[in-house]
Amino acid sequence: MTTLSSNNDSVDLPTSQQFYINGCWTPPAVPASLPVVNPATEEVVAEVARGSAEDVDRAVAAARAAFPAWSARSVESRAQILGKIHALILERKEALAQALSLEMGAAISFARAMQVPLAAEHVRVARDLLSSYRFRTVEGGTAIEREPIGVCGLITPWNWPLYQITAKVAPAIAAGCTVVLKPSELSPLSALLFAQLLHDAGLPPGVFNLVNGSGPEVGAAIAAHPDIDMISITGSNRAGALVAQAAAPTVKRVTQELGGKSPNLLLPDADFAKAVPLGVMSAFRNVGQSCSAPTRMIVPRNRLAEVEALAAQTANALIVGDPQLEDTQLGPIANRAQFDRVQAMIEAGLDEGAKLLCGGPGRVPGFAKGFYTRPTVFSEVDSGMRIAQEEIFGPVLCIIAYDTVDEAVAIANDTVYGLGAHVQGQDLELARAVASRIRAGQVHLNYPAWNPMAPFGGYKRSGNGREYGLYGFEEYLETKAIVGFG
Ligand code: NAD
Repeated sequence: MTTLSSNNDSVDLPTSQQFYINGCWTPPAVPASLPVVNPATEEVVAEVARGSAEDVDRAVAAARAAFPAWSARSVESRAQILGKIHALILERKEALAQALSLEMGAAISFARAMQVPLAAEHVRVARDLLSSYRFRTVEGGTAIEREPIGVCGLITPWNWPLYQITAKVAPAIAAGCTVVLKPSELSPLSALLFAQLLHDAGLPPGVFNLVNGSGPEVGAAIAAHPDIDMISITGSNRAGALVAQAAAPTVKRVTQELGGKSPNLLLPDADFAKAVPLGVMSAFRNVGQSCSAPTRMIVPRNRLAEVEALAAQTANALIVGDPQLEDTQLGPIANRAQFDRVQAMIEAGLDEGAKLLCGGPGRVPGFAKGFYTRPTVFSEVDSGMRIAQEEIFGPVLCIIAYDTVDEAVAIANDTVYGLGAHVQGQDLELARAVASRIRAGQVHLNYPAWNPMAPFGGYKRSGNGREYGLYGFEEYLETKAIVGFG
């Protein structure tokens, strides 16, 4: 057991120097490590083992060996273990929240209220699906069998670390697959706690394996591995494309959850006093580091002044600071590279002539260190500007004005991405019609509650495949037709 502490935050890890392979904590084949930095203090809080292709080989061999027994295990028995995993996440929620806060700067209140409970939901959903899912159906003398695809390589990002992990691991193991997980090298701590939790839940050796390390080393070795049947990656478009290329020679299934630049279209009849503040809060949730964050607010030109005032007021009232303080709403950006990217994009917005309503370049006043970023709102943004086209992945909102609803829809679709979208309006018929015209995988009308069953994934360059609920579960299944079944 290793205790990590920084900035009043402390986490007991099972280990940080080993991988979880075939049911055991295992040192890397070649000793090497990677630093983990607390973005609130910029201090190194841990060194985690850094894997290589050799470690991936060992993990894949374990997963391959475990596949026949795990895939043949009864659905009830798989559901029972998922139930234990779910219970253990809830039991250990405080340790998981602290790890998330330490590794990526999540405000502790946000980690407790969102990052951990929503991660647990993916496990509950996978367990519940098993009670009703029909793995065999027979129609017209032909049986259709849905079988686990095999060994899955799972590659996850740093922004919602545990949530992205459970969104993949839970449906994969529920389906009867075995897995090799590579979490983000920038946020590997909650993943170590999760591996121990799976062990304690009684998951058989080899069903779940964890190898930490960098994308070009461990991630690329997973993507190219001849004994892996499927890859699911959540990350940047750059990494998603590289994974697909590396996976192509072995003809793996590749599902990709990639970037986004989601619109929030406020129709003329929206309730602006509510829709604007909620839109700002949605865009800046998790410090804007969400792939589906609605970062382009598209508003009627004749309401622009009112929208600007409401947006600036909401952004200025946000409490940015030490993630360990209960009142903090936004902690720091999760890492230095991302902080630098966000700063460069704020500068780009100024250079392109967008109107700065609040925020701007530099750290939040009062902080000499830590990647604290000022919640920034630009107005009079043209859809062609870089800040309207490129994913910023930080607390930066663009307000874009329209004259007609047709023009608003065209602006919403004026992006290479198609992950999320929001539409606000009191005439539900009109809002639904506009939702149908938006090319995106998930459209939210009037800020509904999160639905873990709603399929999530991208049109266009936001990816391929779907996660969550039934659709996410079925990604991990093959389809077999037995003709002449009788
Ligand atoms: P990233 O692409 O840098 O890293 C994601 C993962 O891919 C990491 O584990 C990384 O090590 C790995 N990786 C990097 N290069 C690789 C390679 N050549 N081969 C194999 N693996 C490689 O992304 P990030 O910065 O961690 O996350 C932010 C990005 O993720 C944003 O673009 C965001 O929109 C996207 N994202 C998408 C979703 C979604 O569901 N669509 C959710 C969260 C984040």
